[in-house]
Amino acid sequence: MSGSLLVDNIGELVTNGPGEDPLGIRRDAAVLVEDGRVAWVGAAAYAPAADRRIDAGGAAVLPGFVDSHAHLVFAGDRAAEFAARMAGQPYTGGGIRTTVGATRAATDDELRATVRRLRGEALRQGTTTMEIKSGYGLTVADEARSLRIAAETSTETTFLGAHVVPSEYADRPDDYVGLVCGPMLAAAAPYATWIDVFCERGAFDVDHARAILACGQAAGLGVRLHANQLGPGAGVQLGVELGAASVDHCTHLSDADVDALAGAHTTTVATLLPGAEFSTRSPYPDARRLLDAGVTVALATDCNPGSSYTSSMPFCVALAVREMRMTPAEAVWAATAGGARALRRDDIGVLTPGARADLVVLDAPSYLHLAYRPGVPLIRQVIRNGAPQ
Ligand SMILES: [Zn+2]
Repeated sequence: MSGSLLVDNIGELVTNGPGEDPLGIRRDAAVLVEDGRVAWVGAAAYAPAADRRIDAGGAAVLPGFVDSHAHLVFAGDRAAEFAARMAGQPYTGGGIRTTVGATRAATDDELRATVRRLRGEALRQGTTTMEIKSGYGLTVADEARSLRIAAETSTETTFLGAHVVPSEYADRPDDYVGLVCGPMLAAAAPYATWIDVFCERGAFDVDHARAILACGQAAGLGVRLHANQLGPGAGVQLGVELGAASVDHCTHLSDADVDALAGAHTTTVATLLPGAEFSTRSPYPDARRLLDAGVTVALATDCNPGSSYTSSMPFCVALAVREMRMTPAEAVWAATAGGARALRRDDIGVLTPGARADLVVLDAPSYLHLAYRPGVPLIRQVIRNGAPQ
């Protein structure tokens, strides 16, 4: 969309830029958007003229949410598994294979429709950037088509062929790792930005994860990792060692894991996914321990049909505040700028001149309401790439 757009009369603007507070808040502000970018940020009284104007009516405006961890390419429904878990059965990750069967049997159009439905759902809840993983195909053809379909919707696509060892390889996991590193990676890489491994007991051990991630790096993909979700392990430290953009879950951490994430030269973000703990009725990660150690923390949904079937970043912010003792400011930063760091992006998650014009206008006077009013649809307007949605 051409022409300039002024978002005016903003009571509280979260910029995540420099300022006296961590969120770079400005009061009585305005934002000028040109060519899909933030062109100017300042006091509403000094706002320049523009071709079009949106009156925020004194409400809060913040950067669009950056959901850096989502599994949207799948078929089927696991509501019955959820109900069984709520009735007392433990979560083991084994249900992934149920979704693999349904995904392989689905048509491209069925998968595409699910991705679009969930992406639209997230957009209406303020998510302007969403990472999308493969990982429910687990054949060369099915992983490649999952990523091809994901790439229609997002540039942040992640090859997760190492999600779980599929049942046909159950007694020969080394052969499956060879498939992932060889023909599957070759078929997936043209559509992927990142590579990811589910490094967990019952999925892939640290030696397999190291081998797979090294192959992905050699193919030009950035590294991210599911680690330390269901129990302690070496995944987090492997991620830091490999320079992963993000290690995700971080629910069971040793002091050495926290030290590694807090290291002076560490650029690896700890991405916390409280929707998973909520939906599996599991203990939450210790966000305070990470934040107090100086670790960069992101929040994401982990949207997937098994362990966290939510696309709502506001819900995750509310969980982070209520259940993980993050302050509302820490949670909002983690859901915007933190997610951007987890994707190694500096053009999103902030509202400063030059950034992509991804803005959310709340139906509330302050970002605090995202945690204060859980479950309430507070997203009044989403502007993505400078275009009102
Ligand atoms: Zn995940």
